[in-house]
Amino acid sequence: MAFDETGQADSYERRIAICQRAYDILTKQVGFPAEDIIFDPNILTVATGIEEHNNYAVDFIRATKWIKENLPGAKVSGGVSNISFSFRGNDKVREAMHSAFLYHAIKAGLDMGIVNAGMIEVYEEIPKDLLERVEDVLLNRRDDATERLIEMAESFKGKGKEILVDNSWREEPVEKRLAHALIKGIVDHIDEDVEEARQKSDRPLDVIEGPLMDGMNVVGDLFGAGKMFLPQVVKSARVMKKAVAYLLPFIEAAKQEGTSSSAGRVLMATVKGDVHDIGKNIVGVVLGCNNYEVVDMGVMVSAEKILDKAQEIGADIIGLSGLITPSLDEMAYVAEEMEARGMKMPLLIGGATTSRMHTAVKIAPKYSGAVVHVLDASRSVPVAGSLLSKENKEEFEAGIKTEYAALREMHESKKSGKESITIEAARTNRTPIEWSIDDLYTPKFTGTKVFEEYSLEELARFIDWTPFFQTWELAGRFPAILEDEVVGVEATKLYADAKVVLQKIIDEKWLTAKAVIGIWPANAVGDDIELYTDDTRTTVLETIHTLRQQNKKAPGQPNYALADFIAPKETGLPDYWGGFAVTSGIGIEKKLAEFEADHDDYNSIMLKALADRLAEAFAEMMHLRVRKEFWGYAPNETLDNFDLIAEKYQGIRPAPGYPACPDHTEKATLFKLLDATAKADITLTESFAMYPTAAVSGMYFAHPQSKYFGLGKIQKDQVVEYATRKGMELKVIERWLSPVLGY
Ligand code: SAH
Repeated sequence: MAFDETGQADSYERRIAICQRAYDILTKQVGFPAEDIIFDPNILTVATGIEEHNNYAVDFIRATKWIKENLPGAKVSGGVSNISFSFRGNDKVREAMHSAFLYHAIKAGLDMGIVNAGMIEVYEEIPKDLLERVEDVLLNRRDDATERLIEMAESFKGKGKEILVDNSWREEPVEKRLAHALIKGIVDHIDEDVEEARQKSDRPLDVIEGPLMDGMNVVGDLFGAGKMFLPQVVKSARVMKKAVAYLLPFIEAAKQEGTSSSAGRVLMATVKGDVHDIGKNIVGVVLGCNNYEVVDMGVMVSAEKILDKAQEIGADIIGLSGLITPSLDEMAYVAEEMEARGMKMPLLIGGATTSRMHTAVKIAPKYSGAVVHVLDASRSVPVAGSLLSKENKEEFEAGIKTEYAALREMHESKKSGKESITIEAARTNRTPIEWSIDDLYTPKFTGTKVFEEYSLEELARFIDWTPFFQTWELAGRFPAILEDEVVGVEATKLYADAKVVLQKIIDEKWLTAKAVIGIWPANAVGDDIELYTDDTRTTVLETIHTLRQQNKKAPGQPNYALADFIAPKETGLPDYWGGFAVTSGIGIEKKLAEFEADHDDYNSIMLKALADRLAEAFAEMMHLRVRKEFWGYAPNETLDNFDLIAEKYQGIRPAPGYPACPDHTEKATLFKLLDATAKADITLTESFAMYPTAAVSGMYFAHPQSKYFGLGKIQKDQVVEYATRKGMELKVIERWLSPVLGY
């Protein structure tokens, strides 16, 4: 917080001076990473009647802007409710003040804030007269601002929120109805309204370029301004697509040429080896809503195909997507190839494992054109807009280049700052476990067990809904999210839609769920886990290779490896290890094709997101049954779904590709052991992505001390040896492990 020896900073100058000083001490003397600094430059109460307080909000906002511009990496937070303290007891005014303040502070760069989530209003819904007086106060726009707000505040005392249901839109002229249908995402009357509009127009194309585009522009603007949420936008896009589909035969019959009014042509693809496309599809829909022409090449597209296509269609931008870590390397390869071909168009990078840092460090240096990491769908629009704007392009690109160069520098200094130890030393600091037969459990079977056509209804009960809302870019934990002040209404609607689709998935058997699990006698040998054909433990069936943390630890902190959780061979104790592969995505293609034919991205994304949820639920449920029945080490466990989500059970199910075991190639061994392709219809791509995408695979560890950890960066001594253990060439394994190499 902006405090020093003389007290709390209450002016712009003092705020920035203290933050600068703290920043210098932290980054230069202490060696603290700049991106881990969060400043709170004091949000102080305005409208107190004391003149010196009038500029508090303005000073905070200006200081925020200054920090973000001058102290690279640092973030800004603040206690928001403080701003409106003088209006306590008057929620209507306080809510308006919080929202208006956030609106301006976020624009200035505020990254986060502490606020009672039940005390904010949607900026757009603050009555205009109230907003004006609130902003007069916050922005210190007139001397009598406080009196005028107090005067108005009297009339709001004790007033709650009003809910307006407006059905009068069907009485409006057709242009207005179309705009309304688009903004609200209502498909019910679209054909009749479009037909009416078509009859009124000279050319069918006019309907698209007139009322439909106008409506979409409003949608795009509201979403861009954070006043509309993703599910609403995807529903709007569906209305647009259906309207266009209706008009298309008329346009073709009239042989009209489209007056290409597109904002730009964006080529999108999920890279080679990867099959995940929810994120890409969402970005495509959102860009489409903003008048971009999106050419989507689908999944598993090679660099060569992407670049050929980009050149063929004259793409203005290329957007790459991917979810699993091997895709990160593939994206860097695409960038390299763009450079080799002398291409110039900007490259956008997106997807769950991508990051600004990775883009800056590993991708951007390979290509002289613009390379930009896009965090989510809402960011894609302003980024594409800036990259294609004649006026802002240069400034935007230069800004990104500077930012990424700073990130690379930060990355370098961080690397040298972190101490690593030799693999030998790390092994002497392995997880301290006192091996005892009492902590080991003999499973009810060994070998594999197959589950055909598992009941979807049963799986549905194990769904963790929180990530479902994340997919739709709605932040918050389930079920509290349904009551959330900001996204609650949309979340509730989305959840209701999801329940309907989920019921259809179950009733009409849209999907088939299959699984295979396995448990084998096992012992640890160094950092490997040997699996034996039977309990005599004489013949090795397969070997699971694990990696060990190599960062220097504080005293008492072990250097973990998953092999630590299996009894070492030399103990002579009979331990076991398990594996699983589950999917709930078999047969999804048929329904997806139907939705595509119906121009229904909303239901297509919905189905994929639900299939993913069912797969995770399947993994959860299977793990439960393993603990209680098949391995049977926790027969009396009684945990509800929230306890399961919070991982309150004994044992873990780490998944290859995740932080404890980032080596995706181990999935080859896992799949071989389980015979997962034959038994559960799950295949692996060349990058070890699973298809169907709604699939989860992993390993079971039962020991009470087993826990999840992040491997962190590993060093060459370990990797050289690991390559030998796996019988792989160093160069090859280094490529697979590139995200965790610390050298
Ligand atoms: N309830 C969540 C569960 C998925 S995320 C959902 O429905 O989406 C949790 C899973 O990720 C774990 O069960 C495990 O399989 C994997 N995981 C999490 N942290 C891990 C780590 N550090 N190493 C390996 N796997 C991990």
